[in-house]
Amino acid sequence: MVKIERALTPPMSLSVESQKSRGSYSEKDVIRQLKEDSHDKCYICELKYLSDPEVEHLKPHHNRKRKELVFDWNNLFYSCRHCNLIKSASKYDDKILDCCAVDPEEVMDHIFLDGHVEIHSKSQDEMIQTTAELIQTCFELRNTGIREAASQYRIRELAKTMSILFKTLKKYKDNPEAQRYKRSLNEMLNRSSQFAAFKRNYVKKHLGDYPGLENMIT
Ligand SMILES: [Zn+2]
Repeated sequence: MVKIERALTPPMSLSVESQKSRGSYSEKDVIRQLKEDSHDKCYICELKYLSDPEVEHLKPHHNRKRKELVFDWNNLFYSCRHCNLIKSASKYDDKILDCCAVDPEEVMDHIFLDGHVEIHSKSQDEMIQTTAELIQTCFELRNTGIREAASQYRIRELAKTMSILFKTLKKYKDNPEAQRYKRSLNEMLNRSSQFAAFKRNYVKKHLGDYPGLENMIT
């Protein structure tokens, strides 16, 4: 999870649709703006180029019982179906970090080690701890066949992404003056890239081995 800069002005359809009895919170303008602001990534697992995007309500509206949350622009997030379904468990209700307000990288470490994801909360804050647990679960949950397949897919994509990062870091270390490796790393470490929080966390922890990359992870 990385920080997201949300468009300040809510998409037009939200106020129009909120006046209707069963109005839609997923009109085209909403999806387009969420997709752009999120760089076409699920805000929870950071998988990019979603084929099954959904509008996720950070604070659940419980079948429109909490009506004020249904069309609240600041409550809407872009997510994949897998993460949206996992987050719908009641233990996550109102306990997930707003990554537009707080920088998740400052409060959690995103670690990929030996084929597994570990999200470490840097604080005792309940909301941060619950968010860390949710992200980890979206990679590690295997309780049904569908979820096993979806989690394994994310782990496999993350492994590929990290492998490319490690190879590029090695080339950069062997040849720190070559601009092309710097350019590649700059792209890979941008918040808009797939699984950016994991890559940025790795580089942050190993800056001593790769001097010159500090400005790419701030
Ligand atoms: Zn996801």
